[in-house]
Amino acid sequence: MTRALITGITGQDGLYLAELLLSKGYDVYGLIRGQNNPKLDLVRETVPGVKLLTGDLTDLSSLLRALQVAQPDEVYNLGAISFVAYSWENAMLTTDVTGKGVLNILEAVRLYSGDDPTKVRFYQASSSEMFGKVQEVPQRESTLLWPRSPYGVAKVFGHYMTINYRESYGMHASSGILFNHESPRRGYEFVTRKVSRAVARIKLGLQDDIVMGNIDAKRDWGFAGDYVEAMWRMLQQDQPDDYVVATGVTHSIRELLDVAFNRVGIEDWAGYIKQDPRFMRPAEVDLLIGDPAKANDQLGWKPKVAFQELIEMMVDNDLDIERTQAGR
Ligand code: GDP
Repeated sequence: MTRALITGITGQDGLYLAELLLSKGYDVYGLIRGQNNPKLDLVRETVPGVKLLTGDLTDLSSLLRALQVAQPDEVYNLGAISFVAYSWENAMLTTDVTGKGVLNILEAVRLYSGDDPTKVRFYQASSSEMFGKVQEVPQRESTLLWPRSPYGVAKVFGHYMTINYRESYGMHASSGILFNHESPRRGYEFVTRKVSRAVARIKLGLQDDIVMGNIDAKRDWGFAGDYVEAMWRMLQQDQPDDYVVATGVTHSIRELLDVAFNRVGIEDWAGYIKQDPRFMRPAEVDLLIGDPAKANDQLGWKPKVAFQELIEMMVDNDLDIERTQAGR
């Protein structure tokens, strides 16, 4: 039985990846942080087959202990402080967890692996935010990185450290440069989920408007459930490598609003939108669009869920949730 350890098990990707690995017959361990983590019950209910271990990416000894218990063949490092806007307010903490945390887990895996650097296959969750002020359109594995937020800078550190451990020690370490990926499990702070919930609440008469930031930004949005499949495929390759995972299609926040409002029968949505500088960022990533050709060719990976279907799935899910809560 293949054994896997997932950091960031409480997040959207951790849950989808755990489901995928359990369906493949893996023995799955999840690293959970802190005392009395508020997401503990959610993880236990969603993926009861996962064995939970306590640990923190900023605490190297806790990572070593988790590795000794889990004895994994594969480690997926999905843990991070991942909200871009928050990273300006907490730049040091974001750097410690999202940046230095990658070094801690790489070092823990290296020490745990002893004389055999390929004993554990390692996946690092890198991010399209590393492209920031994009230097090439579409963005591919070779595009110069130009991060625009403390989060993006921390992810660049983790990305290059993963490559460095591969080149320095011969570790089977791969980095997936994932473009924005969303789902009904996305956190409410991200724009897709913020919009899907607000639109559901407006439709049900529970809310009057949505307060937004910059609605001209463009993102390449895919479905998180598709993207965890690419992570797994990377670790099944003989050779470790880095891959862009994206749909290759970009949409603006305006188009997101259009699809979400249309789903509930509202065509003219402009009157529901308020803009507030509170949601503007000190530096914006204006356009992201990935070129997933390498992942297509070498991993045989293709996204299945397209933008419109994704947003409609999220709005439908939030209509169900909000209806149930309002009925209580
Ligand atoms: P990110 O790409 O990882 O930063 O994902 P987000 O979902 O947080 O933001 C995507 C884009 O939506 C960014 O360009 C934001 O500036 C833009 N945006 C506009 N209004 C909002 C808002 O109210 N909340 C968030 N989170 N993003 C917003």
